[in-house]
Amino acid sequence: MKDCQCYAKAVDPERQKLWDKIFYDGKVPITCPLPVGVGNLAGQEAEFYLIDFDRVSYAEKELLISEMAEKFDLAPVEVKKDIEDRGCPVKAESVIVSWCKLHSRAAM
Ligand SMILES: [Zn+2]
Repeated sequence: MKDCQCYAKAVDPERQKLWDKIFYDGKVPITCPLPVGVGNLAGQEAEFYLIDFDRVSYAEKELLISEMAEKFDLAPVEVKKDIEDRGCPVKAESVIVSWCKLHSRAAM
């Protein structure tokens, strides 16, 4: 959504540490403050948000790709293709979401 400013932060310090490393303010921009689907994430059925790449800088994206490639033992080109084809899910469990004005207004 245009002008959306929703973000996710992790409750788990290890996970947040990784996000702090990738995103300049440690907050992950997400497309919607509610989980957008359920999928198989790292071998587990889980609800997820999607990263809003319109609000991710080139440098952040490059870093995200290299961190994910290392974590999942994949080639960076594969990770990049995956992200570009399907987006990048963020497991919704143990995440604190801050709602932007736009999305808060649309909620009842
Ligand atoms: Zn929003």
